[in-house]
Amino acid sequence: MGISFSVLSSGSTGNATVVRNENTTLLIDAGLSARRIDELLKELDMSGEDIDGILVTHEHSDHIKGLGAVARKYDLPIYANEKTWEAMNKSVGKIAEENRIVLDSHEVMDFGTLRVEPFEISHDAAEPVGYCFYDGDEKLGIATDLGYVSDKVKKAIEGSDVLVLEANHDIEMLRMGRYPWNTKRRILGDKGHLSNVSAGDALSELLTGDTKRAYLAHLSRDHNMMDLAKMTVRDTMEDNGCFFKESEFKLCDTYYDRSTPWDWLKD
Ligand SMILES: [Zn+2]
Ligand SMILES: [Zn+2]
Repeated sequence: MGISFSVLSSGSTGNATVVRNENTTLLIDAGLSARRIDELLKELDMSGEDIDGILVTHEHSDHIKGLGAVARKYDLPIYANEKTWEAMNKSVGKIAEENRIVLDSHEVMDFGTLRVEPFEISHDAAEPVGYCFYDGDEKLGIATDLGYVSDKVKKAIEGSDVLVLEANHDIEMLRMGRYPWNTKRRILGDKGHLSNVSAGDALSELLTGDTKRAYLAHLSRDHNMMDLAKMTVRDTMEDNGCFFKESEFKLCDTYYDRSTPWDWLKD
């Protein structure tokens, strides 16, 4: 069966992704209300009962809003590194001791036959990470909420069959937008969010024969649009001499208000 996944919701209003294989189902972040997560899972013919655990990328509320509630409702273990636990301790509320699992950001973990490899990213949080998932020769890479794509991140996610990569903002739209200057500077900075151009630059380097699709994720609703993001990413890649046909490589949408259809990596 291999790996399949669905991005339940993506963007600054809330992030959550389901990744599964034949014996394990994991939720990556729970940044929406527990009720909304239940609804989104139901639309995929799933429920919280099907989930084996929740992996956390970092403590920002758009990633942990429903974390405590979902974990309590379905008695799920939460996996996060120590600094993230410290930073989110208050906001998650009471979690049973056996469900508080401390991850090492440099260590691989096996959940049945689903292997999880965290990797550090640059973002203004305590110890933010992205995750790669492996099953046999399949690989899924998820990297959102990062100021830039470091060599380490490239190394971690390269060779993924499918990537979920942040394309947060159009730089011009952000510059012209209504955010205060400090906020703009934070978003544009090394510990902020990835622009469409930066996503395109990263994909130009990452695009190998292995990678068939990239989902553009965590789009700003104020300073981006999906069509613009896709166009900018493609233009940037072409500027970098990286041309591709739709049959070889595809840019895919994510949504803030609905989930992406199940993606089987090997399809
Ligand atoms: Zn976020
Ligand atoms: Zn964040």
